[in-house]
Amino acid sequence: CGIFGIVGHAEASNLTYLGLHALQHRGQESAGIVSTDGNLLRAHRQMGLVADIFDAPTLANLPGQAAIGHVRYSTAGGSALKNAQPLFVQYAGGQCAIAHNGNLVNAAELKEQLEADGAIFQSDADTEVILHLLARSKQPTFEQKLVEALRRVKGAYSLLVLTENKLVAVRDPHGIRPLVLGRMKEGAYVLASETTALDLIEADLVRELEPGELLVIENGVMRTSKPLVEPPRLARCIFEHVYFARPDSSVFGNSVYEVRKQMGRQLAIEHPAEADLVIAVPDSGVAAAIGFSQQSGIPYDVGLIRSHYVGRTFIEPQQSIRHFGVKLKLSAVRQVLKGKRVVVVDDSIVRGTTSRKIVKMIKAAGAVEVHLRISSPPTKWPCYYGIDTPSRQELIAATHTAEEIAKYVTADSLGYITLDGLGRAVGDPERGSFCTACFSGEYLIGDFGGAKDAEVT
Ligand code: 5GP
Ligand code: SF4
Ligand code: MG
Repeated sequence: CGIFGIVGHAEASNLTYLGLHALQHRGQESAGIVSTDGNLLRAHRQMGLVADIFDAPTLANLPGQAAIGHVRYSTAGGSALKNAQPLFVQYAGGQCAIAHNGNLVNAAELKEQLEADGAIFQSDADTEVILHLLARSKQPTFEQKLVEALRRVKGAYSLLVLTENKLVAVRDPHGIRPLVLGRMKEGAYVLASETTALDLIEADLVRELEPGELLVIENGVMRTSKPLVEPPRLARCIFEHVYFARPDSSVFGNSVYEVRKQMGRQLAIEHPAEADLVIAVPDSGVAAAIGFSQQSGIPYDVGLIRSHYVGRTFIEPQQSIRHFGVKLKLSAVRQVLKGKRVVVVDDSIVRGTTSRKIVKMIKAAGAVEVHLRISSPPTKWPCYYGIDTPSRQELIAATHTAEEIAKYVTADSLGYITLDGLGRAVGDPERGSFCTACFSGEYLIGDFGGAKDAEVT
C-alpha cells in the first residue's frame, strides 16, 4: 500500500490526491482521503484508481489544512470497500483516521481478544486492531494512547494518523516499510511512502523517518518522540528495492534506480550469457537490464512493449485476471528480436506463469535463444509483512530447482542473482539491516518458525 499526508496547507486534499497519484503503483484496489478542517474529519473512499475516484467536487468536499490518504492492495483482509483506507472512527476521545502500509503479524490474536471483550469490528483489515486498542487505552493523551496500542502490535507498519487537530506519523521499530518526511516552500509538512510523491508536489525531502519513530505535527509545530521500544534489528524490506518501489524514488536512503542497475551488473557477473542483445521485461526489469547491458557490454534494446492502459497484473488478486493480463500488457517487437540470442531481465519469478508466456512470446517473435536473468533470488517463502506473495504451494521456486524452472518457462538458460549479490547491490552485503524472508525463509518478526523446514507437498 501507499500512504500520503500533509498538514499546514490550504490545498491539503488536492495535494493528497496528487501524492496518491504518484503512489498508485503501491496499490490499485481502492483509495481514500480523509481531511480535517480543525473540527470535523471528512472522508471519501472508494474501490478503484485514484484518478477515477476523485474529481473536483469530491475533493471540494474534503476541506481543511490537513489530510491523509491511502492506496490499497489487499494483503490482510479481502478486496472490499469496507477495507478501504484511511479507516475513520469516532470514539470517546474524538475523531480519528488511520492509513497503514504493512501487515501486522499478531492482528488475528489481538482481534480475538478484543472481540471476546465485546469489540465489534467493521472491517477485516489488521489495521482496525490499532484503532480498537487506541480507543480502549486508559492513557491520558492521544499520543500516549497510540504508543500503548503500538506497543502491543507486532509486524510492519508505516502509519499516518489524523485527528481533528494533529497528524501523527509512525514507522515500526524494524523499519520494514518506508516513510519519508518532506516540506513545502510555504512550510507545510508532508509525509509519504516514497520520495516520488514529494517530487510531484515539489516538496523537499527532509529525511526518512527513523524506525520506531513517532512524529507529531500540531499547530504548525513538529515534535518527535523517543523510539517506541529499544531499537531491534532492522528488517527493511529488500523487495522494495527489487520491485515494489518506483525507480525514481529513493528508499532507505538509496536511489531505487541505481540499486536496480547495480543488481543487473551483479547478475551479469554471476550469470553471464553469450547473446546479441539485452532486453527488459518492462517496467519492473528495465533498470536491472540496463545494468546487465553496461556490465556485459551486450547492447540494450527494447524487445517488449508494455501497454500503459493495464495495471500491474500481479496485484490484481484474481488468478483469472492475472492470467489474462500478460498478453494485454506486453507485446514483442519482431524487428528487434528476429534471429537474435536474447538476454531477458526481469525482477522476479513468482508462479512462473507470466515468465513462461513472456519467453514463448519472445521466441514466437523470432528470437533463437532466450536467456532469462532474474534480479532477485528464487522467491520461496510468502511475505507476512505487507507484500502479497501467494502461498508456498504456488511459489514455483519452493518446489522446483532453477533447472526445472528454466525448463518450465522454456528458457535456454536461467540465472538468479544470489542473496549475497543482492545484499551487495543494496549496499549491505551482510544483509544485517534488511528483511530477506521471501528469499531466505529467515522471518525476523512473528512466529513463522518451522516454516523454513516445512516441506511443500
Ligand atoms: P510469474 O512469472 O511468476 O508469473 O510473474 C513474474 C512477474 O510478476 C514479474 O515480472 C514481476 O515483475 C511481476 N510481479 C508483479 N508484482 C509482483 C509482486 O508483488 N511480487 C513479485 N515477486 N513479482 C511481482
Ligand atoms: Fe519484503 Fe520479502 Fe521481507 Fe516481505 S518477506 S518484507 S517482501 S523482503
Ligand atoms: Mg514485471
